[in-house]
Amino acid sequence: MSQQENKGVRNSISFDLEHWYTATLLVNDVVDPVDRIVESTDIVLDLLDRHDVTSTFFVVGHVAEEYPWLIRKIHDQGHEIGSHGQTHKPLFDLSPAEFERELTESGTAIEAATGEYPLGVRMPNFSLTRQTKWGFDILAQSDYRYDSSVFPMKTPMYGVSGGPIAPYWVNPRNPFDSMAAVEADERSLVECPLAVTNTFPRIPVAGGFYARVSPVKVLSWGIQRLNRAGIPANLYFHPWEFNPDVPVSEPRLYKRVVSFSGIDRLADKVERLLTAFEFGSVSDTIRTALGPNALELQESRTSKNAQHFG
Ligand SMILES: [Zn+2]
Repeated sequence: MSQQENKGVRNSISFDLEHWYTATLLVNDVVDPVDRIVESTDIVLDLLDRHDVTSTFFVVGHVAEEYPWLIRKIHDQGHEIGSHGQTHKPLFDLSPAEFERELTESGTAIEAATGEYPLGVRMPNFSLTRQTKWGFDILAQSDYRYDSSVFPMKTPMYGVSGGPIAPYWVNPRNPFDSMAAVEADERSLVECPLAVTNTFPRIPVAGGFYARVSPVKVLSWGIQRLNRAGIPANLYFHPWEFNPDVPVSEPRLYKRVVSFSGIDRLADKVERLLTAFEFGSVSDTIRTALGPNALELQESRTSKNAQHFG
């Protein structure tokens, strides 16, 4: 009963590191944008340092190629580096072969910057859904140990209604059923879904837009409810969401509302959450929930790879 042994719940906080103007709602609307990636990252690194919290940065491969020193700096400060794809294209717009390439190219770019191949991946727009569940077959065969791209409720842009809300071993044939049997030698991939409440209906408390527009009381209530049930909350943000210099007036009103609302208040909210709850990287959360060896290379995969190269 590993759930009982690991009663202490560690939540995770992560940051998708991309250029602010490559967000889906902005990518076609902003002309001649200012590059704010370094200053935005520094805001977040300072905030994490003040609270002595380790987090995960899911980095776009192109950004790792453009700013290897920045990725190295984040890594050297003790944070985990994961992949956010190579080009920031969601799975909805990729073929299986292209997805495989996104995984390996971004993994290689990150390894070149940090010296370590990433354990985890979060694809843009939480784009691992029932329509793109073929992606799990490719992930399970890849060098990644976990995914954190599943948003376990349906939203207009993404999401999996009724998906598991706690970290679980993925059976690629039935990837959204955490009770689906996984053979011991298949335990090669973990999913760490984003935080929604264990209520009916579910309420997103996962960060990003939801944290910018929700009162901090609602976020705290949701995280506390999850933790009391032994479930870690997996929160995501973007460094640019903490930078008051990012908002521009070019995009249409609804895009500005979704993209920029609450940027000026987000740092204060996150400080309060970091004070109230225990947070770590996504890897920390998975190891706390599923056991210290959850992200080790499994026997079967080692021998499979050995055959591959032998
Ligand atoms: Zn993104």
